[in-house]
Amino acid sequence: MQADNSITTVKGVGAKTTALFSKLHIETVGQLAAYFPRGYDRFEPPVFASELTPGELAAVRLCIVGTPSLTRARGMAVLHAQAGDATGRLRLTWFRMPYLKKTLLPGSWHVFRGVVRQGAQNSLVMEQPRVFSAEEYGKLSGTFQPRYGLTPGITSHMISKCVRQALDQLEFPDYLNQKLLEQYRLIPLAQAMEKIHFPKDEEEVRQARRRLVFDEFLAFLVQIKRQKAINGQLLVDRPLQPSAETKRLIEALPYRLTEAQKRVWGQIEKDLESHTAMNRLVQGDVGSGKTVLAFLALVLCSENGRQGCLMAPTEVLAAQHFEALTELKERCGLRISPILLTGSMTAKQKREAYEKIRQGQADAVIGTHALIQEKVEYRDLALVVTDEQHRFGVRQRELLSRKGESTHVLVMSATPIPRTLAIVLYGDLEVSVLDELPQNRLPIKNCVVNPSFRRKAYAFIEAQAQAGHQTYVICPMVEEGEESSEGLENVTDYAEKLREALPDTLRIGTLHGRMKAADKQRVMEAFAAGEIDVLVSTTVIEVGINVPNATVMLVENAERFGLAQLHQLRGRVGRGDAQSFCIFMTGDESGGKNKRLDVLNKSNDGFFIAGEDLKLRGPGDLFGIRQSGDLEFALGDIYQDSDVLLLAGELADRVLCGEVELPEKELGLFGRRIDYRTI
Ligand code: ADP
Ligand code: MG
Repeated sequence: MQADNSITTVKGVGAKTTALFSKLHIETVGQLAAYFPRGYDRFEPPVFASELTPGELAAVRLCIVGTPSLTRARGMAVLHAQAGDATGRLRLTWFRMPYLKKTLLPGSWHVFRGVVRQGAQNSLVMEQPRVFSAEEYGKLSGTFQPRYGLTPGITSHMISKCVRQALDQLEFPDYLNQKLLEQYRLIPLAQAMEKIHFPKDEEEVRQARRRLVFDEFLAFLVQIKRQKAINGQLLVDRPLQPSAETKRLIEALPYRLTEAQKRVWGQIEKDLESHTAMNRLVQGDVGSGKTVLAFLALVLCSENGRQGCLMAPTEVLAAQHFEALTELKERCGLRISPILLTGSMTAKQKREAYEKIRQGQADAVIGTHALIQEKVEYRDLALVVTDEQHRFGVRQRELLSRKGESTHVLVMSATPIPRTLAIVLYGDLEVSVLDELPQNRLPIKNCVVNPSFRRKAYAFIEAQAQAGHQTYVICPMVEEGEESSEGLENVTDYAEKLREALPDTLRIGTLHGRMKAADKQRVMEAFAAGEIDVLVSTTVIEVGINVPNATVMLVENAERFGLAQLHQLRGRVGRGDAQSFCIFMTGDESGGKNKRLDVLNKSNDGFFIAGEDLKLRGPGDLFGIRQSGDLEFALGDIYQDSDVLLLAGELADRVLCGEVELPEKELGLFGRRIDYRTI
């Protein structure tokens, strides 16, 4: 069996399973082997009902009391059962699993595994527990089972059975020799692949992860460093000429640039007017005002009769940038001709746009990265700006710099990366830091609360709406079939509840990743125009969105998110001159006692938060919440694995200078095997 064989070659994988796997982006046996667990479940021996503690995951062996009842609520089948042992009772609930009724016969014993919650009147409840026979559970008891990202119709158990076959039949020859393995204290690749899926204990997970993270970083860094070598030699045949138009724009802005913005614009301008291609990263916390720097650079290009493009990670953000630039153009009478390119445009609109770009009638192209990269032919491209750079892999950057002969590259990121790591990760870029927020900003007021505060929170949202301000409510996305998804708020249901809780006069909108791009855009535009008072959304609004009139952010189940991500989310408010508020609501009772959330409560500074987060999680935290909104690797986490990152950087240097030779093919293969998520 070869890594690129189709997964249909795995025994037991038919058309139906193939389709499910394809939803998880698994097409080949190699991809299956590289579909790493999200975490692991330890199957502890069952406890007695009296030993259950609310909030904890447990297995309990109980007898079904009476006949379970099947009802419907909101179009969903809901199955209720009572169960107990000699020490106590439990209420059990399942959604969308009516067929379980046949198994749960009165008087039958089963092992139920799930999270226990406090129900009404001191009762205990378990929602959506998994059901095992005593023998089944006996076999699992004491083991460490992988937990995979799922899609409805597929279980971790099914995936793990297929992975087992793939691992048995694939070979993972190591491209690092024994000496290197010893030097970097790494276990062999084949062993790591085995142990990441089927570890005996935490130590094995730790070692497997360390090896695979190392490989992932190494492949990335070798590419980065190659790119740097190329960048250094990129000469520009026609440096841009200074233009008075940028000064005019700065003066016409409705605000004064901060000193940091002025300094960084000076650096960008100097790069653009020099003979070597710019490769600059602008790093600045959320709300530090990066966008206007991109606009200035685009104006300078346009004034030189050249073209520039601005890529955003989402359509919503691209559309927003386009409108902002168009507004500036009108306000200041700029000559620039911006054009928007997004996936939700019709084929005809796209064709027309491509034509205008090809002929040079449009000189500032704003769109999502996919569109800009693949199909666009420029007449005279001089500058590529990518907003929220961490969302783009190196591959994209390479692709782009191939478009124009030697284009200037400007990347903008809000990810607070400590300098030592930035040097490695952005080895191919010069770094400018926007270390100052605009003056008009009042620090965001934060609070961390438990659900008992919800009524007050709603009253607050209502009062803010009355004062003409808007609110974001963030719910974590529910992944169906995931064991621990009970109790999570999902967008549609939540909006429904909110409609009941708030007066009818408040306009409530919803936004989530599964909506069509055009619908998302419509909702975002309506929110920006003030036609929606409360926007209930998943984290799709995480990056870049700018609606300064929004002053409240309420994050439900806040403990489920990474701190960096929460910081990004919070960055959506506090963008204007009104006081803004962020309410982090925990899904459990912990509220303000949650240590991680307390960090956000104390500080609005991205660098501080990243540092504290790292301290709190500690290097041994394998099962913690992954950072999100950062440079995304399949396994690696630049903060948590910073030591591995630095080591991989060292080896990458040795590869580049020829001291260590690695088989090119293997490195390439690895690059494909673990693909950098490009969003
Ligand atoms: P980010 O750095 O997060 O991308 P943006 O560029 O979206 O931030 O800017 C956030 C908001 O701040 C925008 O509404 C923008 O117009 C405004 N802004 C930018 N620079 C300044 C400034 N110097 N003074 C006041 N407001 C500013
Ligand atoms: Mg931005």
